[in-house]
Amino acid sequence: MFVDTHFHLNMIEETIEKQIQTIKNSIYEGLKTGTNIYTSPDALEQNKDILPELEELGIKIACGWYPEYTPSNEIIEKLEEVIKKYNVFAIGEIGLEYYRMHKPKNEQIELFEMQMELARKLKKPVIIHSRDAFEDTINVLRKYKDVSGIIHCFSGTKEMIKHYLDIGYYISFAGNLTFKNARDLHEAIKYVPIDNIFFETDAPFLAPTPFRGQKNYPHFVKYTYAFAAQLLNVDLNELVFTVKENWERFLNQYSSLK
Ligand SMILES: [Zn+2]
Repeated sequence: MFVDTHFHLNMIEETIEKQIQTIKNSIYEGLKTGTNIYTSPDALEQNKDILPELEELGIKIACGWYPEYTPSNEIIEKLEEVIKKYNVFAIGEIGLEYYRMHKPKNEQIELFEMQMELARKLKKPVIIHSRDAFEDTINVLRKYKDVSGIIHCFSGTKEMIKHYLDIGYYISFAGNLTFKNARDLHEAIKYVPIDNIFFETDAPFLAPTPFRGQKNYPHFVKYTYAFAAQLLNVDLNELVFTVKENWERFLNQYSSLK
């Protein structure tokens, strides 16, 4: 019974029917719950017909402006509107993408900060995307110490982990953890207390070994759990149970704020 904190159903399949089929199949294959992420309010609205079904299946929804959009008050108002209208659980993925520079750094930081501001106002957790942008990311997060959430698809060093943990974030590892050459990551995960760990697929991207290079699905998260259990020298069932508890604690932390 695995939790996958990050997948994109609308990028796995185009039609709502196929998306429902996909998530039901993943649940059949052992997925317990997780978060379906929309990278813009428009993407969420285009797929809104799936939301009642996902709610019934216990799947959470996140939505945020991915760091490729131009910051403005209008787009933040739009995000606030869909969050309220569709019972969106978390704001994300938001953050900084310096590997594929869709927008200059200053615009990305501005959009990121506006969404952190919104998270503070609405008392929502955030799901953070940070690629080749650690310094700027941590500087923004430190400005919003009353906001917290998940560092999605962590790839970095143990020093970075320490900084994220200091400000109360959970660290989520994706399928790239299982790649043979990800030695830094294999070392870094050992520095995350088991109570702060999550796993995710980022499906349809980043399929874990043995599916590397293929389309990814939420239930493939089990391969990442299995790999991590070996790496951390813990029992797989214990790891699965602990992450499930982390997830419940994370949800409760935010539902009690309302
Ligand atoms: Zn993603």
